[in-house]
Amino acid sequence: MRIGIYPGTFDPITNGHLDIIKRGRQLFDKLYVVIPINPNKKTFFTLDERIDLLKEVLKDFNNVEVTSTDQLTVDFARKVGATVMLRGLRMVSDFEYELQLATLNRTLKPDLETIFIMASHEFSFLSSGSVKEIAAFGGSFEQFVPLPVAVALKKKYKLD
Ligand code: ADP
Repeated sequence: MRIGIYPGTFDPITNGHLDIIKRGRQLFDKLYVVIPINPNKKTFFTLDERIDLLKEVLKDFNNVEVTSTDQLTVDFARKVGATVMLRGLRMVSDFEYELQLATLNRTLKPDLETIFIMASHEFSFLSSGSVKEIAAFGGSFEQFVPLPVAVALKKKYKLD
């Protein structure tokens, strides 16, 4: 059985993440979408909110499981028997960080391979950060996120 993990902060999940999950899940029998719990990282949505949004958005994908972990990502991969870590690449600017992360993770766990999916053209400019910024200024962000995320953002920012 081919098991993959797609770790991220997902603060919140965007259509760019969703595109990676839709394309990536076809490569695996099972894909874990996992949020590594990092108490030092300040997020806009709480862990529970981010998990609930992921679960709602991904509920129809039968080989996708949403979870969080307080372990190192490589240890989580070991626990669930994953052999591949999936990541998305948008711009050249992602490359440096992703190369560092992939190299570090392979040093920690040489049999865990990181595989990158290139962002679809229409999502290559999209990040959770930019969506939150647009929302904070009352701009139109609905086209960039799944519906439950749009609803949650409007609620948080008291828009409408
Ligand atoms: P992290 O804090 O681990 O970078 P993110 O939620 O920001 O978590 O991103 C998780 C992964 O998804 C990263 O590999 C990131 O490059 C990728 N990603 C984020 N946005 C997009 C997008 N619009 N298109 C493709 N990949 C993306």
